[in-house]
Amino acid sequence: MANAFVAGRTVLASEEQALVEARARLLGPAYRLMYNSPLHFVKGEGVWLIDAAGRRYLDAYNNVTSLGHCHPAVVEAITKQVATLATNTRYLHEAILELADRLIATMPNGAGHLMLTCSGSEANDLAWRIARSATGGTGVIVTETAYHGITDAVAKFSPSLGSAVELGSHVALVPAPDGRTGDPCESFPRAVEAAAAKLQRHGVRPAMLIVDSMFTSDGILADPSGFLSPAAEVIRRAGGLFVADEVQSGFARTGGQMWGFQRHSVVPDIVTMGKPMGNGQPVAGLIVQPELVQDFGRRARYFNTFGGNPVSCAAALAVVDTIAQTGLMENVARMGERMRKQLRALAVRHQALGSVRGAGLLCGVEIVDGTEPDAIETARIVNGMRNRGVLISSCGRNHNILKIRPPLVVTEEHVDLLVGTLGEVLAAR
Ligand code: PMP
Repeated sequence: MANAFVAGRTVLASEEQALVEARARLLGPAYRLMYNSPLHFVKGEGVWLIDAAGRRYLDAYNNVTSLGHCHPAVVEAITKQVATLATNTRYLHEAILELADRLIATMPNGAGHLMLTCSGSEANDLAWRIARSATGGTGVIVTETAYHGITDAVAKFSPSLGSAVELGSHVALVPAPDGRTGDPCESFPRAVEAAAAKLQRHGVRPAMLIVDSMFTSDGILADPSGFLSPAAEVIRRAGGLFVADEVQSGFARTGGQMWGFQRHSVVPDIVTMGKPMGNGQPVAGLIVQPELVQDFGRRARYFNTFGGNPVSCAAALAVVDTIAQTGLMENVARMGERMRKQLRALAVRHQALGSVRGAGLLCGVEIVDGTEPDAIETARIVNGMRNRGVLISSCGRNHNILKIRPPLVVTEEHVDLLVGTLGEVLAAR
């Protein structure tokens, strides 16, 4: 049943109200729903999510089903495999090897080992263990509003979880490369150098610098491309590894290339991946440069009950094939350019819009009141878009960046609908 929106207050239909109450009763207090008026979807189809009342929403937020909801190639691959065999990595199987072969070939140097997990958090947790083992260090450097996941170890270096979640004393923060402290090509490596020195002064050797290659939770920071390369050199000189967290930016999201770090001409020591990897099937993992995992592999056996199971590998293979065979990277680049061009045109007419940034189909739009970040207006826009049938969200340390992340298969029509709806919401202020 549809929800009524009365003077900025949502009146939930009784069915939705019952679900909200059941969640609180059954799932407890840690879960959160999106939007002032929660959504109850019953079906996904390409770029669309369909609610219980049959209303269609353009999904410009979910970076998991990035080939579109219920993509037929992935559905077929999963269905076939689950009807044939679902086991684990303690038996020989071709699918994991084919996937490893395909993914390792996408690394700039064509080298690496693939290790599979079920979530991005687990992938980063494993990267952290490997980095400590390979370097002997125990310190980590992250950006000030980074998000890398929910395990105990990873939450400690995910400052975007908020001040209630403690950061470890082995964690050093650097400002997001947003130009605030000068050209990121100079300021970002300099900040990493200072953070490494600070850790060392406290007797902590750095094990890794880990960054989301598109700095999504820091506010989507793509440019200038290239600044990650000198930062990687700095952390290596300090004895640590450079880890590219591609959970958001991987699998063609940035257009023109498979991985976000490729925009920076850098070869990471470890690349972690997840979210869009199975287009909805839980599959994640990392690729590590071979010499870095030798010691870890000798000392710690690695087994993950569900990680690398044939069903998840079949899903990931279908994703990799679809990206390669359907010209998606090119579509992402073209649609991303179209979106940013239209958004910049909108920014000329609406003072609330500040900088428009991003790469491919990961796009950030700053919302400002004069020169100040405007989190209240940002929330109004996100909820206004939702009420008009377009799903986006927000990010950034001041919660004032629109986070726009449509499926890689969007067409001109969808981009125009998205930006047109944003124009309507801005005009309705
Ligand atoms: N890294 C980044 C950059 C992410 O955005 C996320 C999820 N939002 C994660 C890691 C964690 O992934 P997961 O939720 O699959 O554990």
